[in-house]
Amino acid sequence: MPEIDPARRASQVASALAEVRARLDRACDDAGRDRADVQLLPVTKFFPASDAAILYGLGCREFGESREQEATAKVAELADLLASAGTGEGADAVRWHMIGSLQRNKARAVARWAHAIHSVDSVRLVDALSRAASAALAEGERPEPLRVLLQVSLDGDPARGGVRGHELTELAARTEDADGLELAGLMAVPPLGADPERAFEALAGVHRDLLREHPRATALSAGMTGDLEAAVRYGSTCVRVGTALLGSRPITSY
Ligand SMILES: *Cc1c(COP(=O)(O)O)cnc(C)c1O
Repeated sequence: MPEIDPARRASQVASALAEVRARLDRACDDAGRDRADVQLLPVTKFFPASDAAILYGLGCREFGESREQEATAKVAELADLLASAGTGEGADAVRWHMIGSLQRNKARAVARWAHAIHSVDSVRLVDALSRAASAALAEGERPEPLRVLLQVSLDGDPARGGVRGHELTELAARTEDADGLELAGLMAVPPLGADPERAFEALAGVHRDLLREHPRATALSAGMTGDLEAAVRYGSTCVRVGTALLGSRPITSY
């Protein structure tokens, strides 16, 4: 990425954030939903900690990242930036969300910094996260259990991650019973080329079924830059927005 003047970058990000907030306001209005029930989660992957610091200065306190190594470094960098700026509540007020697929051997690192993980789709990962979060709690590295959102597959394609059907039912029960974890809800990414309306409608049905067994699993992480309106219409409580806030990423970003 070319070097860009910090003041210019700050004003660029500020106007992008204002536009996305207005879009989300409108989406909530159109859907007859309370704006307070839908969180905007800026996704900072591929962008520097300085961009997260700009967003922090504009009132954002939660950020999404999708790759463990990049995130672990950025979490520390943002804490340094906020400490040296000496303004606001500092890094303690920040909540990081892991939204990308995670290998089990990275669970321990993620348990140190993640408030929530949106991409859990196997029993083995649940077990690894449970051990990791329990250890982090015992060692005072995290203040509360790790919130887990189970990733739903909307097309059954295992390559894109996510589970469905009885696998999802089992995973929810396993997570509910796991030490160090809290079953928070569901997450999904519509299949490539799918109609997001139909995809999010299906997801809403899956979420209704889950809520019958797990009434506290109210979080529904759905919607990105291209489809947040449809997601809000079908009950999203968290839209994960990268491109519309920070610009486009290299093509290899997933
Ligand atoms: C990168 C990413 C996003 C953000 O997508 P945009 O289209 O850039 O808004 C959302 N969710 C996940 C899981 C991602 O990896």
